Amino acid sequence: PKYNPEGDAEFEDESTKIFARKVAEHYSARTNQTLEEREASVIIHLKKLNNWIKSVLVQLYARRGDAVLDLACGKGGDLIKWDKARIGYYVGIDIAEGSIEDCRTRYNGDADHHQRRKKFSFPARLICGDCYEARLDHVLADDAPFDICSCQFALHYSWSTEARARRALANISALLRPGGVLIGTMPDANVIVKKLREAQGLMFGNSVYWIRFDEEYAEKKFNASSPFGIKYLFHLEDAVDCPEWIVPFHVFKSLAEEYDLELVFVKNSHEFVHEYLKKPEFVDLMRRLGALGDGNQDQSKLFALWNGVFCIIEIFILAL
Ligand code: SAM
Repeated sequence: PKYNPEGDAEFEDESTKIFARKVAEHYSARTNQTLEEREASVIIHLKKLNNWIKSVLVQLYARRGDAVLDLACGKGGDLIKWDKARIGYYVGIDIAEGSIEDCRTRYNGDADHHQRRKKFSFPARLICGDCYEARLDHVLADDAPFDICSCQFALHYSWSTEARARRALANISALLRPGGVLIGTMPDANVIVKKLREAQGLMFGNSVYWIRFDEEYAEKKFNASSPFGIKYLFHLEDAVDCPEWIVPFHVFKSLAEEYDLELVFVKNSHEFVHEYLKKPEFVDLMRRLGALGDGNQDQSKLFALWNGVFCIIEIFILAL
């Protein structure tokens, strides 16, 4: 279907909607873990590393008093990070009703499963909705403009069709103030494609995760006439089981430019970790999050513990 900047939903075919619903249902069904369950998880190191990456991004970009838009905010796992940065206002949107409920519970502090904590110092608005289908400028007319838009481990869900990818970028562009930044993380398509080629099949992974392409999509990838809709299934033990889409970064970069979003920074998580672990304050942060032992633990051993999954992440910053 042809992209129409004004209308959205009616131009999407049924399968796109089915997949968006699948993603929503998957995340909705994942309830909060207890602290004990979390620590026992096989991917606890990966979760801690992901939290470290996001904390570094927040520390680097958030300023006191900032208005923050968290697209696909999930259960609000980043609320504490924003609180530490002393932001002034927070809007979180997610398609999964269950996650937004958990986020609300966490924000209200009724049953915080991690620790009893004081109330958050900023007002927040939490909304259930599809950030890649709906026009958000109307919904958030009274909340915009935002200083920061954060989209963590989620922008790739917009890449099922060109219309959705454009809607995501149009929303971000319309809601940021001039000079505002988009900070994000998503799977690194280069790494995925490289691993797929090495695997010489349609699937690769290890005991912790796997990625599987359908025959039809693998072909589409190699003959790529369209860089959208290249679907794979992602399984991460104890965390994710749902359809995702490849985002060729050069296409993302040039599409973003159409919406006046200029690339400031892009780095694979592997390089990012090596670079920012040179800075003492971020080493301390990694220790505080429990992602790095106290002793002189060999970093390469630690990276092996993360089971090779962590180099699949790409970190990017764009500015309006
Ligand atoms: N950003 C959170 C974090 O870092 O903890 C959650 C990341 S989780 C891997 C991906 C999230 O994207 C899920 O909460 C899911 O419901 C959300 N999501 C997927 N498609 C979405 C859409 N079209 N609109 C809004 N949220 C969406």
